[in-house]
Amino acid sequence: MSTYNEMKLEFTSNSENESFARMVVSAFVARLDPTLEELSDVKTAVSEAVTNAIIHGYEKQQGMVKIAGRIEDNTVYLEIADEGEGISDISKAMEPLYTSKPELDRSGMGFAFMEAFMDELHVESEPGKGTRVRMKKVIYSAMKIS
Ligand code: ATP
Ligand code: MG
Repeated sequence: MSTYNEMKLEFTSNSENESFARMVVSAFVARLDPTLEELSDVKTAVSEAVTNAIIHGYEKQQGMVKIAGRIEDNTVYLEIADEGEGISDISKAMEPLYTSKPELDRSGMGFAFMEAFMDELHVESEPGKGTRVRMKKVIYSAMKIS
């Protein structure tokens, strides 16, 4: 089995594309033979990042959400990017329970879930330019086949 694989995906910021993105990433990661728990962790993290791009990044206008995925040995790297509104205070945004949209019944747990379910999380953002979320996860069940 080759140890390197890469993919890129771009789609408009319609909310129905949240499940589309989750399915594509799930299929991409499946070749590492993840456990159901590992797969569900990755899917949840992708959902949270894509939902954020759609509801926060592109709240005011439609735009493109980009996902770049990379597999190196038994590690999956994912980047979810938008060219939307951006975040002015990243550390505040990443605090568990912080949400800028309490009126929409948001719980402010998206970044906390990404952090909990993935091994690494990095957020880069610039107001008016957009947001890029980079995540990494080691798939332990892949170790036995590599
Ligand atoms: P939940 O994810 O629980 O529904 P939430 O989306 O508000 O609620 P987080 O996902 O943790 O919580 O995000 C925290 C805050 O960071 C958001 O309320 C929003 O202000 C900001 N944010 C997150 N992602 C983006 C993005 N892609 N573009 C602009 N702002 C963002
Ligand atoms: Mg969120």
